Amino acid sequence: MLIQENVPLAPLTTLKVGGPARYFVEAKTISEVHDAVGYARAQGLPLFVLGGGSNLVVSDAGWPGLVLKVSIPAIEEHDEDGKVVFDVGAGVDWDKFTARAVARNCAGVECMSGIPGSVGGTPVQNVGAYGQEVAETIDSLQALDLRDCEVRELCNQACGFAYRTSIFNTTERGRYIILRVSYALTPGGEPHIAYADLKKYFAGRTSKPSLAETREAVRQIRASKAMLIVPGDEDCRSAGSFFKNPVLSAEQYRELIERAAARGLQIPSYPALDAQKKISAAWLVEHSGYSKGYSSGPVGISRKHALAIVNRGRATAADVLALKEHIQDRVQEIWGIRLEPEPVLLGF
Ligand SMILES: Cc1cc2nc3c(=O)[nH]c(=O)nc-3n(C[C@H](O)[C@H](O)[C@H](O)COP(=O)(O)OP(=O)(O)OC[C@H]3O[C@@H](n4cnc5c(N)ncnc54)[C@H](O)[C@@H]3O)c2cc1C
Repeated sequence: MLIQENVPLAPLTTLKVGGPARYFVEAKTISEVHDAVGYARAQGLPLFVLGGGSNLVVSDAGWPGLVLKVSIPAIEEHDEDGKVVFDVGAGVDWDKFTARAVARNCAGVECMSGIPGSVGGTPVQNVGAYGQEVAETIDSLQALDLRDCEVRELCNQACGFAYRTSIFNTTERGRYIILRVSYALTPGGEPHIAYADLKKYFAGRTSKPSLAETREAVRQIRASKAMLIVPGDEDCRSAGSFFKNPVLSAEQYRELIERAAARGLQIPSYPALDAQKKISAAWLVEHSGYSKGYSSGPVGISRKHALAIVNRGRATAADVLALKEHIQDRVQEIWGIRLEPEPVLLGF
């Protein structure tokens, strides 16, 4: 196990801000994960588990403890009850796995093509896009339980998946290190074409799109919104969507409609959001004076996506957090709703 010191974390994140890790270890096996945890405990260091750094804002001061980057590789597959089960190491790049699943003509993750980050990061916030989320296909996962340092197998139900949440970012935050995830996919299954963007992409087609065509469509749509990482494109130097779509009570929703009417506006209706009683955070942000392309010194909003706070170069974590707070305050003042950030804030 190689323990490195004062390792810059900004290059290991997609937003590219923040200071160093006091100690840093990259673990490629379960035994290396065990060793790293043992080292942190022996030294009394706080532990942070890093995947692909795509849902993360690191503070300018960095992290005073040990950052453990989980890089467990390998994808294995077997047939089970008519499904193909892919057992995937937590360190595998998520998009590489979706490419492999689609190449094997297995349905269930095609709409999540192009999401950055690691496989081990996907259960944490129950990653989803274009009408699919990993909760639908995760069969089980293997995790190191930090309570007793035992490796456990958690079935789908035990993970407590809901919109952008699981036990891993709520009730059991910090308890588990995810080592391997098993996805049960449908061989020869049809692609899931439910979202408006995808329907529009394939409009006018008489034949059903294949899984490979759906993957390509999703990647193209994502690229047009800077939601696909393209090196050098500052519009995707972000942590993805910075705010969650708020879920409102009936009373909050009524109040929002009244506030909109007073401004001569109507709350837009999106079938996919309506079904989950959510409203569009992007609409709230855009109607609070922060439109696409907004700039405030080295930070701003992506020219292609209203919810992505971007680092236009040389931004600090403090710049990012200041813009986040301005947006939250303004949205609250105008619409009476406090937006909740989606990325994990480390070391603040
Ligand atoms: C351009 C862009 C587009 C995006 N689009 C989407 C999208 O469409 N849908 C969506 O849901 N998300 C999206 N995201 C957010 C992000 O890609 C996902 O949340 C991703 O799954 C995070 O994985 P990661 O490996 O990068 O995690 P990290 O950012 O490294 O970590 C995030 C959290 O997960 C924890 N974690 C990571 N790995 C493990 C592990 N092995 N065990 C335990 N905990 C772990 C970390 O401790 C941290 O708390 C986007 C991000 C960007 C930058």
